[in-house]
Amino acid sequence: MAPGATTRARCHNRAPVASVSVPDVAFGGAPASAGAGARPQRPGPGWWAAPLTELPGVGPATARRAAAIGLATIADLAEHLPSRYLSYDAARPIADLADGEEATIRVVLESIAVVPTRRRRLRIVRARVRDDSGTITAVWFNQAYLAGILTPGDELMIRGQVSLRPQRQVTVKAHEVLGAGATAGVHTEGLVPVYRATEDLPARRLREMVDAARPLLRAAPEVLPAWMRARIGLPTRADALVALHFPRNPREPRAGRRRLAFEELLVLQLGLLAVRRHEEHARRARVLRATGALTRAVRDALPFTLTAEQERVLRQVSRDLARERPMRRLLQGEVGAGKTVVAALACAQAAEAGAQAAILVPTETLAEQHIRTLRDLLGPAGVEPVLITGSVPRAERERREMAVATGTAQVVVGTQALLVGGVRFHDLGLVVVDEQHRFGVEQRQALAEQAGSGADAAHLLYMTATPIPRTLALTAYGDLRVSAIRGRPPGRRDIATQWVREEQREDAYEAVRAELRRGRQAYVICPLVSANDAGTPARSAVDEARALAEGPFRDFRVGLAHGAQRADERRAAMAAFAAGETDLLVATTVVEVGIDVPNATVMVIEDADRFGLAQLHQLRGRVGRGEHPGTCLVFGEPAAEDGIRRLEALVQTMDGFRLADIDLDIRGEGSIMGLRQSGPTDLRFARLSRDRQLLARARHVAKAALARDPRLDAPEHVLLAAAVREAFPGMPRLLDA
Ligand code: ADP
Ligand code: MG
Repeated sequence: MAPGATTRARCHNRAPVASVSVPDVAFGGAPASAGAGARPQRPGPGWWAAPLTELPGVGPATARRAAAIGLATIADLAEHLPSRYLSYDAARPIADLADGEEATIRVVLESIAVVPTRRRRLRIVRARVRDDSGTITAVWFNQAYLAGILTPGDELMIRGQVSLRPQRQVTVKAHEVLGAGATAGVHTEGLVPVYRATEDLPARRLREMVDAARPLLRAAPEVLPAWMRARIGLPTRADALVALHFPRNPREPRAGRRRLAFEELLVLQLGLLAVRRHEEHARRARVLRATGALTRAVRDALPFTLTAEQERVLRQVSRDLARERPMRRLLQGEVGAGKTVVAALACAQAAEAGAQAAILVPTETLAEQHIRTLRDLLGPAGVEPVLITGSVPRAERERREMAVATGTAQVVVGTQALLVGGVRFHDLGLVVVDEQHRFGVEQRQALAEQAGSGADAAHLLYMTATPIPRTLALTAYGDLRVSAIRGRPPGRRDIATQWVREEQREDAYEAVRAELRRGRQAYVICPLVSANDAGTPARSAVDEARALAEGPFRDFRVGLAHGAQRADERRAAMAAFAAGETDLLVATTVVEVGIDVPNATVMVIEDADRFGLAQLHQLRGRVGRGEHPGTCLVFGEPAAEDGIRRLEALVQTMDGFRLADIDLDIRGEGSIMGLRQSGPTDLRFARLSRDRQLLARARHVAKAALARDPRLDAPEHVLLAAAVREAFPGMPRLLDA
């Protein structure tokens, strides 16, 4: 699915403000801010969402520049958080300054002049400044205009480099004129915020704008009710914003960020829980009780016994199906973990309860694979699954659709087009969606609508092979109940993974040759198809295949498979390897899935630092599938710490969930496994790797809030409810409990 098809449910944390009025004290009591000139106009209703031009000193030109970085309103500016802080100390007396240090002084200007120099392009401004302890000369380079702006008597804050010999002077890095009554510097003193800025709109200008908005920040509308703030120990939103933009110590911004992160996570959890509540309570599903009529036959015909993990998950699913409350469950498990069997047994339970089941997969190719597997699994119970895809000839397709419409087809496999394309079901009781990580919450909602009719809902089981850390699951799939099949897939051998250094390459090749001589096979995986893919020095499959066939593996048969080959050529290469006609298959990640060669026992991965951790884990799963244990040899000289940590993790554990956790730590959630497409993981203030606990508490508090006030319509929750609606724009009736 195209990423563009996903609607993002962003948390803006921005409450509508019609019902909020700014307390007088916010203006009357606030000191005039430095350099801000006139006091702000008293904003009318909606001032929090008012355009930036409402701020004193901000005209249309500045507003346009701000809009270019996404800042349109006061609220936008308030939430444009500093990316870091310059740590300046407080102003010190001139008499205490030491030669060579950088310092801040607070002074009065006595005189100022442009000093000519011999170099034509260089103009120097020199000013004599004083405080109670003494005088010093302040020097600016190439800012001659200052001589026309600064006037004797001005009170200045100056940050600069001090030198006492041969003359006492300070070379100015930053300065500011203090307005009447101002007590502190904005640019030169203490923790000075640095904002993401542009050439047009430098951080200094942003600092001035935020300073001008300071009284508004102090009156920022409060979204969190007092009981929540008390329970978690959080400052008010206003205090958090002030702490972030005008911190007095390094702890303040941390506390402020935590507050905004909590609010963001809470709004997300409220929305997801409300979605779940709606699905579970507003709609009814058919009760699909297991009678054993078909499920027993399916089980009896299995060529293996289910693992304890499979049994556990199956019990959860079976119980869900037997309820009137529609199942909304996500089943996680690595590729090969045995999810399909669980799905097949769920379908059998639906069928024996007299309902139909549909299995949806992302592509027609996968649908064709699935239908074969399901025929094997369900056939012994006399259930004949039906495949409906675009490539089924029209007459045949109509015949099958008729079987679906009359209910003779009990289990149907197809792409999602099955639900959209007007195929009528007689009595659809269960929908299984494979590879669900491509969906966001809004897609799931749309699917749930399609899978039911009005108040009648189908049970939904989503399956994904991408292990997701619990924190991420809570944000991306917080509307679902989650099950996981953990551990090594059944019947798989151990895979010993080794990170091999370049010096040991020859030894490694010898180890591979030894395996090949024993009659086993090996893969060599390269990040690139051919060297001209990129100007980087990574190994390419085409070159590597040639080099290996002529060099270290000249006594063996070397095959080549990559994505730039014609499909039949590639298939032939894979088939030859599968048939044992080649010993060594050099390939790109085209072998990641869909090739199963039990005799292959070794995988060499070149430039492993170029692959993601999940992908490396997936790749090595290609070996150790037969009677012999597997070996994975990874090469790679990562330049960055991140790359080293990834490869070390790969060597240390075979647990895909553990690896996903580590990946989250290393990379942050933004880039993890393409989940970004699913919208709600796109967090502005929270970081899942760092805010695990905060997320758990947000989930908890969200549940408590919905239990107390299901529609969030108590006065203290009104702004929170509005924030939830704003974060889930596609679901306006979300909170209509
Ligand atoms: P998934 O759908 O999770 O990728 P599958 O259900 O397709 O995994 O199972 C992968 C392979 O493992 C299949 O060949 C399947 O028959 C086999 N398998 C599943 N469960 C077991 C088990 N309990 N014991 C042995 N083999 C199993
Ligand atoms: Mg599968």
